[in-house]
Amino acid sequence: MVRIEHIGIAVKDIAAANKVYGALLGYEHYKTETVASEGVTTSFFRCGESKIELLEATSADSPIAKFIEKRGEGIHHLAFYVNDIRAEMKRLKDEGFTLLSEEPKRGADNKLVAFLHPRSANGVLVELCQEIDAELMEQ
Ligand code: ZN
Repeated sequence: MVRIEHIGIAVKDIAAANKVYGALLGYEHYKTETVASEGVTTSFFRCGESKIELLEATSADSPIAKFIEKRGEGIHHLAFYVNDIRAEMKRLKDEGFTLLSEEPKRGADNKLVAFLHPRSANGVLVELCQEIDAELMEQ
């Protein structure tokens, strides 16, 4: 793991949350992106080397909608930057962590992402992410 890439926060209303986090951080979010396959709209704020990712459900069966229904708004996941996502997935699997998918998926912010089940990490949903570059696209 290289660093904390971002902290994901589940919100009911991303426009309202953008205002709250804009006021909190003292500057605006720099991008908004919908990931249809994950059922989320995201917005990103930079914070030094890390980011804050706000997540709003795009449909009632989105994992974010289910999360908010069960636990309310709040911290949803912790994302770590990795240099080789497949190697990290293998390492963590060998360590006994439960991965939510066998292969990395395309996530928001031009990243390949993979998640570990929260029960593997003391109740925290952990995301691994790696920037998608030209080399990876050829695989
Ligand atoms: Zn994330």
